[in-house]
Amino acid sequence: MTQMTAALIWAAGIVVWTIIRWPHRRKARRMQTVTDKRSTMERISLGLTILGLVILPALHLSTGLFEFANTSFWSSAGWLGLVAMIAFLYLFYRSHKDLARNWSVSLEIRKDHQLVDTGVYKNVRHPMYASFWLWGIAQFLLIPNWIAGLSGLFSIAVLYFSRIGAEERMMHQQFGAAYEEYCRNTYRLIPKLF
Ligand code: SAH
Repeated sequence: MTQMTAALIWAAGIVVWTIIRWPHRRKARRMQTVTDKRSTMERISLGLTILGLVILPALHLSTGLFEFANTSFWSSAGWLGLVAMIAFLYLFYRSHKDLARNWSVSLEIRKDHQLVDTGVYKNVRHPMYASFWLWGIAQFLLIPNWIAGLSGLFSIAVLYFSRIGAEERMMHQQFGAAYEEYCRNTYRLIPKLF
């Protein structure tokens, strides 16, 4: 694989990500919210995610910004990046489908919110965040630059670690014993199979 192909795979991933998310964002705007735990930190980390996963790599690829931080490109890394990108998009699509009307871009409980524990949520509590980690790994493998390649993983780490505790506390407050039981049967990011 050439470096140009790897860059095109990264760009195609962004297009497919937008296509998957678009209808859910539109529907979510019409849903009623009963609990809203959005904080300033959360708004900052969401902005940082767009910066690290979309804006910085796009600027690097289109203008050569951060060229001083370039590193060598490996074809095998490009192929692994393609696999990580496909896995990200599949898991992202499936988690949106399974969460359906319970999804929101930030921490919110919807009117008639239901605890989803089926589909990709059966063995993992945060498949959508797991998919984001795969996205960051794909970016790192597809873009051979220490800044534009790693900025995705950095911003996902900020989003994940600043949000995960608050999200689980919110879910526990809402669903009590049912959520405790669900936590016993799942891990956060990797499937609990036994
Ligand atoms: N953390 C999940 C969902 C991300 S979307 C994941 O990574 O897959 C964030 C919203 O999803 C939160 O505001 C919360 O209300 C909702 N949510 C998270 N887990 C849920 C579950 N198991 N069932 C229903 N809603 C859930």
